[in-house]
Amino acid sequence: TFIALDGLDGTGKSTQVRRLADWLRDQHVPVTTCVDPGGTELGAKLREILLHGRANSMNARTEALLFMASRAELVSSVIQPALARGDVVLSDRYLLANVVYQGHAGGLDPAELWTVGRFSTFGVTPDLTLVFDLPPDVARQRRGRPSDRMESRGSAFDDKVREGFLVESRANPTAIEIIDVMPDPDTVHAAVRKSVERLLLA
Ligand code: C5P
Repeated sequence: TFIALDGLDGTGKSTQVRRLADWLRDQHVPVTTCVDPGGTELGAKLREILLHGRANSMNARTEALLFMASRAELVSSVIQPALARGDVVLSDRYLLANVVYQGHAGGLDPAELWTVGRFSTFGVTPDLTLVFDLPPDVARQRRGRPSDRMESRGSAFDDKVREGFLVESRANPTAIEIIDVMPDPDTVHAAVRKSVERLLLA
């Protein structure tokens, strides 16, 4: 079973990935977690270039392809082997992030990104993607000290990102589920658990 988690920065994604992994392990479910971009030696270098390098001056297609290259490594060397072992795989972001950030918000064609994405993921698609949703101004407050990238892209970009996630979820509501993360972390964790339980018992 393959589950991806996504959403704007400041929505508590990494905390909830950790809590979900802990809960599954408590149930004796084998879990592999990963971060996209990242998760492999090459992926870590590409993550560095994409998130801390000069990505803002990079052409949007170049940027999308570096994300895709990192993901191809991650899928072939981490995700596919883990799924073959029978692990539940939890990925902090996946292809949907490219569709939303570089597509809906960044100006590339979302449909083309899905197509390039299918090639670069070997067709490995999450059974479920949970998108953590917050009004962008609340997400920005929760982020506190903003990352360089978010700062330079501004709030109009955040609005497009949020809307992009909602549009993709509307187009495929069974595969892309919106989780309202306005409530406290325990309530959010309970909602995440409920969705994952439903998937695992299906
Ligand atoms: O994955 P993580 O939450 O650490 O993302 C780090 C930064 O990269 C965030 O600012 C996010 O908005 C940005 N990002 C992006 N395009 C993606 C994935 C993440 O611009 N496809």
